[in-house]
Amino acid sequence: MNNPRPCYLQIAIDTPLNAVFDYRWQCDPAERPQVGQLALVSFARREVVGLIVGVVDETDVPMEKLKDALAVRSQLAPLSAQWLALAGFAADYYQRPLGEVALPGLPKNLRVLTTVALDRALKKLAKLETPHDPTPSNMPVLNPQQQIAADAIGGAQGFKPTLLYGVTGSGKTEVYLQACAQVLEREPDGQILILVPEINLTPQLEGNIRARFPGVMLATLHSSLSEGERMLHWLAAHQGKARIVLGTRLAILSSLPHLKLIVIDEEHDPSYKQQEGLRYSARDLAVWRAWQLQIPIVLGSATPSLESWHHAQSGRYRKLELRERAVQNAVLPTVKLIDMERDKPNDGLTSHLVAAIRQRLERGEQSLLFLNRRGYAPVICCESCGWISECTRCTSFMVLHRPEHRLRCHHCSLEMRIPRHCPTCGNIDIQPLGRGTQRVEEGLQALFPEARILRIDADSTRKKGSAQEAFDTVHRGEVDILVGTQMVAKGHDFKRLTLVGIMNPDTALFSQDYRASERLFAQLMQVSGRAGRAGIPSEVLIQTRYPQHPLYGAVVHHDYDHFASALLEEREQAALPPYLFQALLRAEARELATAIEFLTMARDCMQHPGITINDPIPMTMTRVHNVDRAQLLVESPSRPALQAFLKEWMLTLREMKSRVKWSLEVDPLDI
Ligand code: ADP
Ligand code: ZN
Ligand code: ZN
Repeated sequence: MNNPRPCYLQIAIDTPLNAVFDYRWQCDPAERPQVGQLALVSFARREVVGLIVGVVDETDVPMEKLKDALAVRSQLAPLSAQWLALAGFAADYYQRPLGEVALPGLPKNLRVLTTVALDRALKKLAKLETPHDPTPSNMPVLNPQQQIAADAIGGAQGFKPTLLYGVTGSGKTEVYLQACAQVLEREPDGQILILVPEINLTPQLEGNIRARFPGVMLATLHSSLSEGERMLHWLAAHQGKARIVLGTRLAILSSLPHLKLIVIDEEHDPSYKQQEGLRYSARDLAVWRAWQLQIPIVLGSATPSLESWHHAQSGRYRKLELRERAVQNAVLPTVKLIDMERDKPNDGLTSHLVAAIRQRLERGEQSLLFLNRRGYAPVICCESCGWISECTRCTSFMVLHRPEHRLRCHHCSLEMRIPRHCPTCGNIDIQPLGRGTQRVEEGLQALFPEARILRIDADSTRKKGSAQEAFDTVHRGEVDILVGTQMVAKGHDFKRLTLVGIMNPDTALFSQDYRASERLFAQLMQVSGRAGRAGIPSEVLIQTRYPQHPLYGAVVHHDYDHFASALLEEREQAALPPYLFQALLRAEARELATAIEFLTMARDCMQHPGITINDPIPMTMTRVHNVDRAQLLVESPSRPALQAFLKEWMLTLREMKSRVKWSLEVDPLDI
């Protein structure tokens, strides 16, 4: 009989402490724990699940300090060495401890369930019939450009990043699906990962995939699954049963033992960047993962990010183009600029736009009004003393939400009733200033009482499932006028829409953020792209005070190529990304001075040839929820030099044990 004897498990735990911890385990030699398995341990007086990254026979930790691991989740196949390498790379690159990268991505149930409960889940999965028939159904005939793209992607071997640059409505989805069909057929166990930027886009694509591949198991991974579902889907991917995994950015860290193709739809979308905690770019990690596995990856967009465009220009990525819309007779909409100085808007709407909406109503076609601002009005003010509704906790305003009779801060969620009179001078005449989607909706109701008007924004879709219900209503044709924020601008294939009105895009023209024009251009092209997708002639009307602005000129001509080249040239001259690599150190404290003081110390604590460390400055929105925030930008023309510096710098900063809360973001999007 084999006697158990102790071995030591090196376990990564989800904590900000940059370390792996040793635990003792009575090893049955026949069943020695494996790297990549999960183990239950007690840590800081709690039971937590950690990831085994090493199994060794000796440890430096003194015996009296060693604790026993409580259990090893041996019923679960270990995470593969490749997956561990992916998590390790992300941890390294974004300068976070491994546990903070590897563990939060795992389904909560894997971490909290008792062994018995876990076995029951697992049993459920084992009973699931796994269909295994990759034959696609209802394949439409591709046009020649699509066919070339689908064959190039589906037939690719090895690490081949492809930028699929296709105008809105050019049928990129169909290219992905037919490339998938080729991979599923060629690779008997092969898995495919498809990422979309926003959760609202999953149902449309999920429907397409299920209809196309009825004999293939599809798993979805996004934040609105229940814990039970999430666990089931994650396991289906981990066990290789799910051949296609469709998800939002968090799915990039899912375990896919037979991954053979990655698809990143709308690759330019900022939602691929996680904006808190581990601030990773799912798109960038996807490219790394494809390189690691030496598999093809396709990045699709009508308005590629300048980073990807740059790679395509320099030949690092292969560029495939779809220049025309796929549906017969469908052409890109005619884009017109409406000069608001000449055609003065009433209730935010110029007479041109009103007339165009009326025409659509008469023809029974749909209109979309796009305004990237929710609420009724961004602020209320007193005309006699100048009081405005500022948030008491943030450097921002309280937004008027009229249907709910509230003022709301969109940054700290502070809420209050609408005051009856001015808090400063008592004047009862306080007025909303500017307009958000609710006010536009109200104005439209007054103008077109017979029309069916639907607003889609974060407020109207708070209830689970309500966003999907709203989009379905539009698809069924039960809406005449749709009013919405960026939620409606992306990806949706609205077939009856022939007019897009863009209400107030000018503010972004003068933003200090150097990425603002790239983002505005993409947004305008994307929202314009919702019109005329079924072959009915369509138009886009942009209301602006700056009709001469070159950005609008580029939108009118659907001219991404030139616009992107011009922007890239500007970036090169100004030494900005993608010609420069950046990291941002943020600090927050009750007092701004404390945050600045910490950053100054951070700036001065290291020698740094080849690295530019800028001066600390307050963030544009300095105060949020009574906390002041400042930032320090670090730059280098060399990514490896920046990485090497950051690594050492983080060690030094962690040693300082400052009480200021700070965090580092590598490749920041908003600076
Ligand atoms: P994109 O993602 O490029 O904006 P979609 O993939 O949504 O475009 O496709 C736009 C429309 O074109 C969809 O309604 C799709 O069904 C249709 N479509 C795509 N390919 C073809 C094709 N080869 N023949 C006919 N219709 C197509
Ligand atoms: Zn007043
Ligand atoms: Zn606030």
